[in-house]
Amino acid sequence: MTRTSGWVDETYQGVVRTGFRLKKRLFKAKSPFQIVEVVETAGHGRLLLIDGMTMVSERDEFVYHEMIAHVPLFLHPRPRRVLVIGGGDGGTVREVLRHATVERCVLVEIDGMVVAASKKYIPQTASALSSRRAVVRIEDGVKFVRETSERFDVVLVDSTEPFGPAKELFGTAFYKDVRRILTERGIVVSQAGSPFYELGTIKNLTKILKTVFPVTDAYLFNNLTYPGGLWAFSYASKGIHPVRHFNSARVKSARLPLRWYNAEIHVGAFALPEFLRKAVGR
Ligand code: SAM
Repeated sequence: MTRTSGWVDETYQGVVRTGFRLKKRLFKAKSPFQIVEVVETAGHGRLLLIDGMTMVSERDEFVYHEMIAHVPLFLHPRPRRVLVIGGGDGGTVREVLRHATVERCVLVEIDGMVVAASKKYIPQTASALSSRRAVVRIEDGVKFVRETSERFDVVLVDSTEPFGPAKELFGTAFYKDVRRILTERGIVVSQAGSPFYELGTIKNLTKILKTVFPVTDAYLFNNLTYPGGLWAFSYASKGIHPVRHFNSARVKSARLPLRWYNAEIHVGAFALPEFLRKAVGR
C-alpha cells in the first residue's frame, strides 16, 4: 500500500490502484504472518488492510459477509454447526449467527492480531465474536481441518489471497479434509477472487473442487472496495445444487434484517458471464 498525502492507495497486481481518502491511521503492526493495519477514511469508514490489501471497509462489508454466509446457510436444510476459516474481522460470524438454527460457529483464524485489532477498531464486524455461540481459535485452518474430530454442516473459507499463510487453503489436501469434516448434506463456500484479475485462481480452485465434490459452481457479488469491484465465491457440496434446490420461501419467512442478500440476489448471483461459465466448466 502506498500513501500519497491524504490518501491510502492499494495497488493490485501492479496494474490497478484504488485510493481512499485518509482521515487517520489507527493501527499498524507486523504479526508473525503479515502486516495488519486499520485506518479511518473519509468516505468508507474504517478499513482493515492486510499486507496493503483492503480486507474490510465499514461502508460495504455487509455485501461480502451476507453473500458468503446466507447463500449456503439458506441452502442447507438445517445448519447447526458452521466452521469459518480465516474471517478474523468477525463479519462472516455475525451473519452466520443471524440463523437461529446455528448452535455453534467455530472461527479458526491464524493471526490473533487480526482478531484483536478488529475487536478494538471495527466492532461493527467483530462484536459477534463475543457471542456465546461463537468459538474463536487462533490456529492454522489447514491444520485444524486435518486434525479435528468435529463435524460441520457448512464450512466458509473467508481467507486472504492464495499465497503466504493462505496458500494451502487453495489446495487439494485441504478440500479433501473439508469433505471429511462435512456432514452428509454439507456445503463449502470459499473466497475465490476477482474474475477479471484472478481467473486462473478460480479455474484451479474449481478443478480441485470437481475432484472432491459432486456439485461445484461459482457465484458473484459486487462491492466498492475490492479491485475491480466484481468478486467471486466458489461453491461445492455433497449434493445440494445452489439454484435447483433453493427454496426462496425460506428467505422470505426468515425475515432477517439484511441489506444486500435476498432470494432474487441468491439466484442472480449464479448467473455467470460466458468467460466465467467456461472457466468453471458449467
Ligand atoms: N474478506 C477478505 C477478503 O476477501 O480478502 C478476507 C478477510 S479475513 C480478514 C482473511 C483472514 O484469513 C486473515 O485474517 C488471515 O489472517 C486469515 N488466514 C489466512 N490464511 C489462513 C490460514 N491458513 N488459516 C486461518 N486463517 C488464515
